[in-house]
Amino acid sequence: MADRNNPTRGRASESTYSLMEFMAEYPDDAACLDFLWRERFAPDGHTAHCKKCDQPRRFYRVKDRPSYDCGHCGHHLNPLAGTIFHKSSTSLHLWFFAMYLMTSTRCGISAKQLERELGVTYKTAWRMVNLIRNQLMSDDVEGPLSGSVEVDETWHGGKMRHSDRRKAAERGMKHGPHVKPRATVMGFVERGGRVVAMQVPSRYGYTLRSNVAKTVAKGSTIYTDDYSGYSGVEQAYTHHRINHSLRVYVDGHVHTQTIEGFFSLFKNGVRGVYHSVSVKWLQGYLNEYTWRYNRRDSGRAMFIDLIETAASRAR
Ligand SMILES: [Zn+2]
Repeated sequence: MADRNNPTRGRASESTYSLMEFMAEYPDDAACLDFLWRERFAPDGHTAHCKKCDQPRRFYRVKDRPSYDCGHCGHHLNPLAGTIFHKSSTSLHLWFFAMYLMTSTRCGISAKQLERELGVTYKTAWRMVNLIRNQLMSDDVEGPLSGSVEVDETWHGGKMRHSDRRKAAERGMKHGPHVKPRATVMGFVERGGRVVAMQVPSRYGYTLRSNVAKTVAKGSTIYTDDYSGYSGVEQAYTHHRINHSLRVYVDGHVHTQTIEGFFSLFKNGVRGVYHSVSVKWLQGYLNEYTWRYNRRDSGRAMFIDLIETAASRAR
């Protein structure tokens, strides 16, 4: 299948933020700390609300510690408290660099690559990648998807052939013959808009339909293949099917190429960057790819988005 028109390809989906810009704006720990300080407490870099004084006060940076003191009463504020960087033995600058690397490539970066780039141990790199992925790159998509929405499901570890899927369905099996248990992933994409991808417990019709109901606004138009699991959604949606069993993949506007493009981006990325991903971590990887996909055309540097999230999600 040619994917010349595949919206996930051929576009500048990479962050537009260059390494030079990163090094100029965040040259050291102090610059990174100052960012979090302004973002969380002191937009002007000096004045923050002091809890003890119960009013705005001028704060001063404490030498050799990641904190700021109230000039009046000495109350401490630590911009790292509650963030994923708090009490880490890795420098804040390396954390920022890790986030820069994770947002500057189309397919992300593995712990192994990060280990090399940062000069930290594999264990440290692995922990950093996971915290960034799981704590910062999970999107809360606002409101259900609507308009024209393509829905499809796939098997993590390789797309199941249609013939296998039919055989499995005929036998009432969760998995096709010759296939070891694998995770099912359901994907939704608004044409020209957002994507949602989730691991689901099965590919029974009930599971698929209830996730459609949760994810897509009623009255929207839904495009699926001809898998029988989607039968019944036409009660709440306009439903178009493309007959993959007859090897038809596009019929005018009826196709599921966009969501298949996302799946193949995900699979190629996982294969190329991470080699394999266990089911246990699957949702985190899906979130990371979704996160990146949903920002592909925003024109904002993904890196800035990510460090702002790190500040705003501090507990
Ligand atoms: Zn004070």
